[in-house]
Amino acid sequence: TLVLGIESSCDETAAALVTSDRRILAQAIASQEEEHSPYGGVVPEIAARAHAERLAPLIDKVLKEAGKTLADCDAIAATAGPGLIGGVMVGLVTAKALAMASDKPLMAINHLEGHALSPRLADSDLRFPYALLLVSGGHCQILRVQGVGNYQRIATTIDDALGEAFDKTAKILGLGYPGGPAVEKLAREGDAQAVPLPRPLVHSKEPHFSFAGLKSAVLRAHDCGEHSDADIAASFQQAALDCILDRTRRALSGMDAVSALVCAGGVAANQTIRAGLEGLAAEFDLPFTAPPLPLCTDNAAMIAWAGLERLNAGFAADPLELKARPRWPLDPDAEPARGAGV
Ligand code: ATP
Ligand code: MG
Ligand code: FE
Repeated sequence: TLVLGIESSCDETAAALVTSDRRILAQAIASQEEEHSPYGGVVPEIAARAHAERLAPLIDKVLKEAGKTLADCDAIAATAGPGLIGGVMVGLVTAKALAMASDKPLMAINHLEGHALSPRLADSDLRFPYALLLVSGGHCQILRVQGVGNYQRIATTIDDALGEAFDKTAKILGLGYPGGPAVEKLAREGDAQAVPLPRPLVHSKEPHFSFAGLKSAVLRAHDCGEHSDADIAASFQQAALDCILDRTRRALSGMDAVSALVCAGGVAANQTIRAGLEGLAAEFDLPFTAPPLPLCTDNAAMIAWAGLERLNAGFAADPLELKARPRWPLDPDAEPARGAGV
């Protein structure tokens, strides 16, 4: 089975061709870092226009590279939310047009489901159910991934996402956007114990996250002028890791049996966080897995893969009138009927 995947929910425009035996035949990503970096964050209108200009040529490129045509594809999968609505609409409308023109099924993918299933694209041994720490630019959640389309949310953030905290720390330190990789790099030169920073919610009973107080403390530490930027970056990363480990430990302690501890989303690219989680998994006698770095940050291979997983699990194609959804939680309790939304 072969699926074309399309991703356009934030600031990467991406297309990929993936097979059900986990081969990425071709993929292409156009990042908009240059467009957005002068503003220190993603500007929705600029993002939507950039997706609209770049998506069709990218799809053409991956098809040619793989030596395939739309006729060879078994489905067209595209992110239908959550994300910046203008960008999501560009990808979804493009997918609808391609599905209609080629008479192939449309698979509307929740971007978070793309992140949640991405570890299974890289690791054929990973079985349901698994405990997932989903840490990205807009989300910080612990989920029990019980099957395709079956996600139990155990914890979420009460304020900022973890990637957001990295991005804000980078902004405070003048490291530009996106900030995660820059903070990680600078942290290698700093002392992780140098700056006293809070660990919000650590030891609290519910496994939820909070990073707003940590970000404010980073700002104060920077403004007082007593610490080097590298020490601030290293101390921030350590505080964030301590929070992640404590909260995930709490969640795992109360969770039904799982086959593995898994991390996905952009922040999963962070080596310090990966190493910390690997140690935590060992405490629970669980294997740890996280996708290779290019599959952590936004990409279209994970969207194609989620489409393949949905096809294989017997989910029906989505209707062409399906609407893009700026908000779309993964867990059913919080989720209105599929296809609702703006
Ligand atoms: P969401 O998936 O929640 O809709 P998004 O798609 O914008 O948000 P991703 O692309 O999954 O987010 O992840 C981007 C985030 O990951 C950014 O906040 C970025 O700073 C962070 N990030 C990327 N690489 C690293 C790294 N090496 N260390 C820490 N954070 C990182
Ligand atoms: Mg991005
Ligand atoms: Fe993402």
